[in-house]
Amino acid sequence: MHSKQLYQEVILDHNKKPRNWGRLEAPSHQAEGLNPLCGDHIWLTVNVTDSRVDDIAVEGESCAICKASASMMTTNVKGKSVDEAEQLVNEFRGMATGSLEESQPNNLGRLKVFEGVKDLPSRVKCAILPWHTLHAALHAESSVSTEGANDPVPGS
Ligand code: ZN
Repeated sequence: MHSKQLYQEVILDHNKKPRNWGRLEAPSHQAEGLNPLCGDHIWLTVNVTDSRVDDIAVEGESCAICKASASMMTTNVKGKSVDEAEQLVNEFRGMATGSLEESQPNNLGRLKVFEGVKDLPSRVKCAILPWHTLHAALHAESSVSTEGANDPVPGS
């Protein structure tokens, strides 16, 4: 299937049926993510047990790209170790900002459908926000914004 068509189908599917949507009752980690440029506002709750992402849920108000990225993030990190999840955060960020080394092996798999956002500067932050928020949650930072010191795309 053409990558652009696949991208649109994945975005539509995850917007219609976002996975792990909602809020965990007693999360061990949580963070709020804001992307003022687009108006994306998400809330992420995570349960880490024995350094593993045992359960994860996300909810909020966001555009389709952010919502699909959040939904796919939850399915991709659920059950993984915190280290593996952090590695995926770095790989996704690298892919979305165009700095990922193509020759290096990565674990992105189907997340590669988001590769095209690197050519759409206004959408990069939408796609990255959930991953940025996961990183903040795992590091016990209560909130992040894509603006200011925590800008995942400095200079944009
Ligand atoms: Zn957005």
